[in-house]
Amino acid sequence: NSALLKVNGLKKYFPIKSGVFQRTVGYIRAVDGVDFEINKGETMGLVGESGCGKSTIGRTLLRLLKATDGEVLFQDKSLFELNKKDLRKMRTEMQIVFQDPYSSLNPRMTVGEIVGEAIKEHKIANGNELVERVIKVLERCGLSKYHIKRYPHEFSGGQRQRICIARALALEPEFIVADEAVSALDVSIQSQIINLLMDLQEEMGLTYLFISHDLSVVRYISDKIAVMYLGKIVEYADKNELFENPIHPYTKALLSAIPISHPRDKKKKIILEGDIPSAANPPTGCRFHTRCPYATKICKENEPQYKNVGNGHYVACHLIN
Ligand code: SF4
Ligand code: MG
Repeated sequence: NSALLKVNGLKKYFPIKSGVFQRTVGYIRAVDGVDFEINKGETMGLVGESGCGKSTIGRTLLRLLKATDGEVLFQDKSLFELNKKDLRKMRTEMQIVFQDPYSSLNPRMTVGEIVGEAIKEHKIANGNELVERVIKVLERCGLSKYHIKRYPHEFSGGQRQRICIARALALEPEFIVADEAVSALDVSIQSQIINLLMDLQEEMGLTYLFISHDLSVVRYISDKIAVMYLGKIVEYADKNELFENPIHPYTKALLSAIPISHPRDKKKKIILEGDIPSAANPPTGCRFHTRCPYATKICKENEPQYKNVGNGHYVACHLIN
């Protein structure tokens, strides 16, 4: 398997402005040096509490936000150095599906217009050919040609998310960022949408970055999982490896919050004390030390480096020294 996407040292800082002259007085270090790769046809799950920088990664990859530093290679091309023409082409290959299917669909456009907009804009098809393409992609997403002339408000949350997915697929992309794409939906609808995403992946060879705060959702769809805390990836491994052999105390805490699937798997829920510290002023050393039950003196002083503990399982924690 070859990497479709390679991310090296990605950073995104947002300036904090203050005073009448709106001078920059500091930075929110939303993403603070992140590396990962996603192989073609695979799904990487990105988990962590809200505010840890997951969405910022997704948006930066799609160039909806400008990165502060780092490099992203997509199909071996450097994403941040593309000229206008290549960027335009790249935009057809990378799409995003957001959490809220209510606010991300224009209420004044029909489903046909919504799904066909990008095809038209990129002059890929028009007239009957456009309509046929729209119908094809709607059908792929479990909708039908009868939905073309209807408006978003006529649909349920799950169906609206199908419309959003159809819109993302209209240009037959390679890569999709799903940012909390099922988080606003009921549990039974969540699994329908996840199954749809997995079917589409198989059919179209799609590669996903699947962002969620919910590890039990990520578990189902992901091949690999990266756990993020306050702007950094603290643990990264194959899904099964991560669930069977979690090492980072933060990952263990997230796992302990998932309801047990088998009564034999007795486990104690680890309650993390305190809120996530501010990304404007992250803790020294290991950023997790203010909440970690195992923190020692060294954790406050030195930042733990990434270590490969075998099988492509990476952890940043002083416990594994
Ligand atoms: Fe906890 Fe220290 Fe490991 Fe950070 S480095 S997760 S504070 S034990
Ligand atoms: Mg988010």
